[in-house]
Amino acid sequence: MKVYKFGGASINSVERIRNSSRIMAEENSGSKLVIISAMGKTTNALEKVAESFYAGRRDEALQLFEQIKDSHLNTLKYLVTLRALAAEKQLKDFFTEVEWLLHDKPVRNYDYYYDQIVCCGELMSTAIVCHYLQEQGVQAVWVDVRDILRTDDQFRDAGIDWDYTRKQVDEQIKPLFKHHDLVITQGYIGSTDENESTTLGREGSDYSAAIFANLLDAESLTIWKDVEAVMSADPKQYPEATRIPELSFTEVIEMAYYGAQVIHPKTIKPLQNKQIPLYVKSFLDKSLPGTIISAKHPKTLPPIIVDKQKQVLIQFRSRDFSFVEDKPVEQLHELFREIRIKPNLSQNTAISLLCCFDDHPEKIDQLALAAAEIFDVELQRDLRLLTIRHYTEEVIDNLIAGMQVVLEQKTKETVQILMRK
Ligand code: ASP
Ligand code: MG
Repeated sequence: MKVYKFGGASINSVERIRNSSRIMAEENSGSKLVIISAMGKTTNALEKVAESFYAGRRDEALQLFEQIKDSHLNTLKYLVTLRALAAEKQLKDFFTEVEWLLHDKPVRNYDYYYDQIVCCGELMSTAIVCHYLQEQGVQAVWVDVRDILRTDDQFRDAGIDWDYTRKQVDEQIKPLFKHHDLVITQGYIGSTDENESTTLGREGSDYSAAIFANLLDAESLTIWKDVEAVMSADPKQYPEATRIPELSFTEVIEMAYYGAQVIHPKTIKPLQNKQIPLYVKSFLDKSLPGTIISAKHPKTLPPIIVDKQKQVLIQFRSRDFSFVEDKPVEQLHELFREIRIKPNLSQNTAISLLCCFDDHPEKIDQLALAAAEIFDVELQRDLRLLTIRHYTEEVIDNLIAGMQVVLEQKTKETVQILMRK
């Protein structure tokens, strides 16, 4: 048994849905559980619906939702003919769920509504793909993952109830493979014990796939992407980026920690615990070897570069030299948690703490304002944070040429350099 995960880009057009479905249903490739994201940028579009609704702009929310409905119905029309009625009915049931909610007035918190609305993206995409596969004669079955994947009610960042979910996988998912080759279900979403929909955090489908791989004791997980493999840097920024054929679980955790947009950081642990290898492969050309991620440590790795633009450095300076104590640092971390912001780099001095963040202006302003009640706060914007794993001095010199270094931190394996032009 294998688990496959297809992201939004792999199903963002009729042509790509056909292509990805061919990969899922390839002959003699064994039984699979397939986790699918929302089509293309649907999650972003649904986010806008939730925002409008919560801001009291109901007509706008309904109108935005109308566009999402149309584009899904349109895609469906090109893919499914014999089963058109059944498929359309299934989509319309999802639409109704959302529209009912949009006609109410918001009385609960934003995150709750966000999840009830946004989960529709994955429900729609998986229904379309599954009906298409069935019409092609594939033994595929659609599962509403909200009946299986139980979470707490931390909306937009829900935590998994492993015991309940394991039981559902054993009782409901495993028997499906007696009569089906493919089980098609949603990434990113789950549900509470009160049947409220939840989401696992943006880009959470990788994590869903890893959870299922773990609970099914899968032989492997394959994440199908629009890149040929995990690369040593973003090829758009660094044309000399190279393909990395092999990575260890720990290296990927490190890369994700420093902000490489390879794989959702929570994905690795469920795989590592059961020693399930993770393949990253291109859905555009499946003959390419891709990357294999496993417990094995490859002998050599190229310098791996993570380049984060739009960084802001905040200096929090205590007014009474109290930074040597733990209390002010604790207060700050409390604030970070509240505002849901995480430093990409931090450095202590005797009387201050320096932290570098992604510059989300609203969050940064909120943080600066709140912190100013306790500290002297100073901001430097328009910075760039370069992280290099397995660096050499030569690589560093090349990358920082012509830049002004603001802050640098080095360990044996990793250097982080905050700089400006
Ligand atoms: N559709 C969700 C998102 O765009 C989850 C995912 O794709 O992993 O964040
Ligand atoms: Mg995605």
